[in-house]
Amino acid sequence: MDVPQLMKVLSNEVNLQILSILKSGSFNPRELARILQRDETDVSRRLKMLERVGLVEGKWMRVRNKNIRIYSLKVGEVKISFEPGGIIIKTSKDRSYEISLLESKMPKVEAFFGRKAEISTLSSSKKPVIVIYGIAGIGKTALAAKVFEDAFWYQMSEVDSFDYFVWQIGLFLNTFDYSLLLEYLRSGGREERDLFELILEGIENTKAKIVIDDVHKCSDERILRLLSFLALRIRDGKLVLISREKLRLGADENILYFHLRGLSLKDAYTLLRAKGLNLDISDFVEIYNLTKGHPLALTLFAGAYKENQKVRTDNFFDFLFSEVYQQLSPDEKLMVQVISLFDDPLEYDAIKTLYGRKNSFVVLYSLLNKGIIEKRGEIYFLHDLLKGFAKEVREIDEREYYLRYLNYLLKKKTAKNFLTAFRYATKLGDEKIIKDLTELRLRKFKRVVQDFPDAYMRILIQIKGNPYAKKELGHIYFQRGFFEKALKLWLEVKDDLDGIHRADVISSLADVCMELNDFKEAEKYLKELESIAKNSDDLEIKFWYYVELTKFYFYTERSDDALRSAFKELEVIRKMEPYPELESLALLHVGDIYIAMKKLENAVQYYLQALEIAKAYNLTFMGHISYMELMKAYYSLGDYKTAVEYSGKAVEYFLKVRNYRRAIDTLAYRCVSYIGLKDLDEAEKDAEEMIRIAQSTNYPLGWAGYIFLGAIKELKGESGKEYFELGKEKLKDYSWLYDAVLEELGKVFNVSKITAKS
Ligand code: ADP
Repeated sequence: MDVPQLMKVLSNEVNLQILSILKSGSFNPRELARILQRDETDVSRRLKMLERVGLVEGKWMRVRNKNIRIYSLKVGEVKISFEPGGIIIKTSKDRSYEISLLESKMPKVEAFFGRKAEISTLSSSKKPVIVIYGIAGIGKTALAAKVFEDAFWYQMSEVDSFDYFVWQIGLFLNTFDYSLLLEYLRSGGREERDLFELILEGIENTKAKIVIDDVHKCSDERILRLLSFLALRIRDGKLVLISREKLRLGADENILYFHLRGLSLKDAYTLLRAKGLNLDISDFVEIYNLTKGHPLALTLFAGAYKENQKVRTDNFFDFLFSEVYQQLSPDEKLMVQVISLFDDPLEYDAIKTLYGRKNSFVVLYSLLNKGIIEKRGEIYFLHDLLKGFAKEVREIDEREYYLRYLNYLLKKKTAKNFLTAFRYATKLGDEKIIKDLTELRLRKFKRVVQDFPDAYMRILIQIKGNPYAKKELGHIYFQRGFFEKALKLWLEVKDDLDGIHRADVISSLADVCMELNDFKEAEKYLKELESIAKNSDDLEIKFWYYVELTKFYFYTERSDDALRSAFKELEVIRKMEPYPELESLALLHVGDIYIAMKKLENAVQYYLQALEIAKAYNLTFMGHISYMELMKAYYSLGDYKTAVEYSGKAVEYFLKVRNYRRAIDTLAYRCVSYIGLKDLDEAEKDAEEMIRIAQSTNYPLGWAGYIFLGAIKELKGESGKEYFELGKEKLKDYSWLYDAVLEELGKVFNVSKITAKS
């Protein structure tokens, strides 16, 4: 084992994050990259490195004529012991990692002074929620970082969105062995109530500590609602909120509100001494009275101090900073101006690119030393108090820098960076860039619409008159099930777009018309899409065409045509850049078409292929959909034993990710299968579970549980009458469903007992 290399690999947060996720199963780099929101090439490189030092194991798997690389954890623990003869490093297979987090931007407090009383109050407080509030620069962040040094740190910004925030909390809780939230998100779950409850459960079960800095910047109402929800309910975990204003969260008995003021006279003196100032008492008292012990003001003062200097009292801050600023070198001034252009904190690489001169490291280092720039984790920023001033003296052209930053971000190829780049594109208001970015979204960042719709929407709303933005907004509405809204937007922009954008809008129109049951209109759009696809060698466009065509034939019950189109769809997917999720989806569709054609054995073959891909790439949601379809197919074949086998995993998973609609669906098939197998006790459990879910969700199929329960009672020699009646009553507005339930039950039970009695 290469020990120095091992230590290096282990000292990197992203690597640790990867290891912690691999704890939950084997992954292909693609899906890992999605979970971590990182570039796939970067993740692959890291996996190879982790493999070289023996922490993970990669295996080639043959999936549908392709070799894919799957990684899993090889060791569960790395133990370092210092022995008289040397250092021994042992790895074993049974323990879990405790690691710090990817997005955690815990500030480092290098020289922290005083605050004894504050530290004691905060660290001894039994209240699960703490709100630290006070003016900018007064030291809230520094204090919280000192007291809650092992917490997960979340830096809120003006542009934060609920979905991104939740995804980060999901990743964080996952490293604490609470995987439910992340599973839920990966399965596409987006219900606000579920998310709130899962986050609460995760924090409580793991006793997690979370600090959220700069809550006052948050303008996303759902995040604020979540914080109020948590503030009321957290008991075992800890939530620390930092804000300029006193937050109103309700639940006062659960919360410690802590108003932070300046440093004490003594602490302020120590701070100035440590910065090399040796003032006489009267000068010090004057400064203290001016600054009221404000640590940032004191720090700046120390930097600008010249002997016998008169300090003007009005607009103290600007005065201080301008004093500091005047003394900066031209390079330092440039760097401050560049950094002040950006809302978000910047990584070193970004600063280097933006600043553009060779001496970036030295300049940044010097600014850090002067207390002008601060560092959090891997990122750098200018304190908010100084930003305003820096803006006033700005002499550089922001457009040029926004453009540079945008290009820098796009090279990183992650969804988050794509979104940030888009934000700057909207600031630039450049039509061409917006057009290119939306094309990039269609080709490379398909999942942004599903994974981060809130974040994307917030950006698009800024330019909502732009036709490309309208089209993208349509996609978000469509995903959320607001078909009419999507239709309206797409119709508005239909004639303003060309190229891939026109193809996208036409295929989307076909799709939404089908969702709205308007097959005539859908056919019209399909015809148009067909001619676009024929005249283009863009695989993406061809793919959309076949997807919509398959759907059209399937819905209009032309199975043979649907099948032919579905095979074309598969053919195109396999020519494109690998996209396993779409491939397994297409295979599931082929299966569905075979089911419609009553060719059950063929259907099984394709469902199994879909399952194989889903497993190979650890696409949990797809995998369980495949299990569900396999269960239905075997059920239709009358092979109840196999149906029950496949259903087990699906039921458990859908319940876990709170996809109750699918959970009930799966339970219903399994329940009837159990009845068919005469396993009445198991059948009874499923029927009861269905009723329980119906009671909390009101999904109509759940009420069929009563009818099944009645049948089970009858088969056990008791009377089922009461249950049959209950079921019928509950389903009285869904007669088609009631009939379908009886038809299925009729396969394993003599339903004349029910019909006769009613
Ligand atoms: P806030 O979060 O209230 O805006 P910060 O915590 O960012 O304020 O503090 C502003 C500046 O003052 C930072 O540079 C920080 O390092 C410094 N600072 C704050 N408190 C202390 C302290 N107790 N000792 C030394 N420096 C401090």
